[in-house]
Amino acid sequence: MPLSQRVQALAESATIAVSTKAAELKRAGHDIVAFGAGEPDFDTPPHIKAFAHAHIDAGKTKYAPAAGVIEARQAVCEKFSRENGLSFEPKNIIITCGAKEAIYLAFAALLDPGDEVILPVPYWVSFPEQVKINGGIVKPLLGDESNSFKLRPEQIREALTPRTRAFVLNSPSNPGGFTYTPDETRAIASVFRGTRVTVLADELYDRLRFDGVDYLSFAAVDDDARNRTITINSPAKTYAMTGWRVGYAAAAPEIIAAMSRVQSHTTSGPCTFNQYSMADALRADQSGVDEMRRAYQQRGRHMHARLNTLRGVACVQPTGAYYCFANVRATYAALGVTGSVEFSRLVLEKAHVALVPGIAFGSDDHVRLSFATSMEQIDKGLDRLEKLLGRK
Ligand code: PMP
Repeated sequence: MPLSQRVQALAESATIAVSTKAAELKRAGHDIVAFGAGEPDFDTPPHIKAFAHAHIDAGKTKYAPAAGVIEARQAVCEKFSRENGLSFEPKNIIITCGAKEAIYLAFAALLDPGDEVILPVPYWVSFPEQVKINGGIVKPLLGDESNSFKLRPEQIREALTPRTRAFVLNSPSNPGGFTYTPDETRAIASVFRGTRVTVLADELYDRLRFDGVDYLSFAAVDDDARNRTITINSPAKTYAMTGWRVGYAAAAPEIIAAMSRVQSHTTSGPCTFNQYSMADALRADQSGVDEMRRAYQQRGRHMHARLNTLRGVACVQPTGAYYCFANVRATYAALGVTGSVEFSRLVLEKAHVALVPGIAFGSDDHVRLSFATSMEQIDKGLDRLEKLLGRK
């Protein structure tokens, strides 16, 4: 059956080969250390599960308005006010099927064929494909690794063209692990003044920052930034709720209305009792978040330090999220591999460690390792990598 050109243009996931192989080895009884998963190893906290049970029992099981239930939109406004210093009303908020759908709806609302989207590299895997599905053209912009992959304002200014419709800002970053400081965020915001560029600020990891690194939500820079920004977030990472498939976006009411129109004809929005449960999770005691954050911080420091002792490996220090994006280019010649997919396959076969090839994030010199796993697993995996690669 012929497929649409739009779908044919979508890249095959570079990660599938490696994850299929990992599953195969596991089935064959091998002990695989998994650094691939992009989700918390923690279970959803019991009080949040209890919210969902209660909402099901109370009959919150029917259709909801296209932009989401008002209680959830209200709770999201409170979150933005409390944590990000942003004042929104429910008309500024849409509740979506995870942050992933929020990003999809944003591009659907913004892009006409041929519109350009500047995408910092390394990027989260779905950004380029979602731009393409919606008719846009991806303009990758490589961050400077010696500056933790962060873009400098001049670089962004030079990349702007009359066709630039949107810019993606993901801080803290998956997979880069970097976080823009408030001053850097302000400097980036100044680049867009006087342009028609919309900024898609993916702030999913805003609560998972380490070592007290300061943070400024992009829309909180000033009125100009606020008016041009679609802020994306979700409880997935903060509350270990990845499978609940609920997320949200905040933007000008006309953007939210457009995104809601698309949602009304596609998914009709996320499961209603999950919307209510997310509202409760946002309003409940937040001490569990800090506990998880501290655990990620400790694991991240440890993984980063050990990676940098390995021969041919150099890794930027993560300041947020839960990923190390390690440069392994200098190992390729000795291992006889030509890129990150071959490297990951070899590491999986020889060391039984599953990683994600950097090509999926725009760089073939890197691999991504998630530290959303126990210290014991981190040490086991790093011991195996050390045996394979040697020490510096
Ligand atoms: N953006 C980034 C940067 C992510 O890392 C992820 C999840 N890996 C998403 C969006 C999608 O999140 P959700 O599960 O809420 O759809």
